[in-house]
Amino acid sequence: MTKLLAFIYSFVKLCLRYYLALPTIQVMKLITFIQYLEEIAPLELAEKWDNPGLLIEPLKSRDISKVLLTVDLTEAVAREAVKLKADIIVTYHPLFFGGFQALEKSNPQARTAMRLIQNELAVYSPHTALDAAPGGVNDWLADALGDGDLYCAETGGARIVELASPVKLPTLGKRIKDSLHLKQLNTAKANDKPIKTVALCAGAGIEALRDIQADCYLTGEMKHHDVLGAVENGTSVMLCGHTESERGYLKILRRLILAETEKTVEVHLSKADAAPLKAL
Ligand SMILES: [Zn+2]
Repeated sequence: MTKLLAFIYSFVKLCLRYYLALPTIQVMKLITFIQYLEEIAPLELAEKWDNPGLLIEPLKSRDISKVLLTVDLTEAVAREAVKLKADIIVTYHPLFFGGFQALEKSNPQARTAMRLIQNELAVYSPHTALDAAPGGVNDWLADALGDGDLYCAETGGARIVELASPVKLPTLGKRIKDSLHLKQLNTAKANDKPIKTVALCAGAGIEALRDIQADCYLTGEMKHHDVLGAVENGTSVMLCGHTESERGYLKILRRLILAETEKTVEVHLSKADAAPLKAL
């Protein structure tokens, strides 16, 4: 009897040792994953008009192991995410601006949302929080300008770069084109003076730039009359295209998510996501 008890005891001990030695399966809750995203881009940095954060929360609790990154959450990207069996889409631009009165098939954004809800995917957007975050989109854009001192604008997420050595507009333009791999860069020259200070903001950045005194503005797109206004105030303008001022950052965001989560999630860059405008 004692022998039998001793045998059972050592068997249980052996099982326990094996059990404890087994690698623990990593399961990341949605809320934990969102906390990591907010470490990268704290939501309090977002502009007031923006709509960042968790935009679709699945009804069933969702563990996150596969992430799809995109600039725009189009229907094609939603289909790609479903096919990929992704758990969450992190979309730079929010899926929703303004409100829905109804979810109708005729509205592409509503269709996308319904498809994702049907497939129980989560959707998160960091948008202007990521523009303003240290090491975020605007800091990445500032890197394209070359050596200089980098400052945060007093309000909003814009950045001001004081170049180490002032350069003429074409030289700076070439530097930006090379760095961002741009086919074209639209410029409006205010004067012939070398450029020392550049104020920049990704996307359609004029509201963040308007009150900043600088030799040059760098952003994605601006309206005709805003360009004229800036030039008449002595500020040259460089427009690299809305999506071109943001798209290159996705690779960096992927690296940041992998580092934050210690590679416990897979992060895919969307293949269906692309610049909507092409120059002929
Ligand atoms: Zn944008």
